[in-house]
Amino acid sequence: MLSKEKRALVAEVMRRGGTLLAEPCPKCGGIMLKYKGKTFCPNCDNVNSIEELEGASETKPAGLQEIDDLILKRLLNVLKQQTDDEKTSIITLNYINALKVLREMKTKNEG
Ligand SMILES: [Zn+2]
Repeated sequence: MLSKEKRALVAEVMRRGGTLLAEPCPKCGGIMLKYKGKTFCPNCDNVNSIEELEGASETKPAGLQEIDDLILKRLLNVLKQQTDDEKTSIITLNYINALKVLREMKTKNEG
């Protein structure tokens, strides 16, 4: 399970146009992210802030709704291919956590 800080990092990476990879982390089976050409696992890799991943150039942040839709689509794909093992459960939980963080961000933005 990702810590609160790591979940915030995942949300921030996606908000800035990073993507969730289809392949789970080979080490922990959790989500892998790609941001500015770098692939990393928020769980295993020692990345603690978005600044550590930032390059010189700025990317346009994707809309929160767009990211929400993308995560939902990925989650449904994972569920469709479900092999009922522990890895799938972890991936599913991670997607749900990511969605939760996103929706909290959206609520804040709207409020
Ligand atoms: Zn990992």
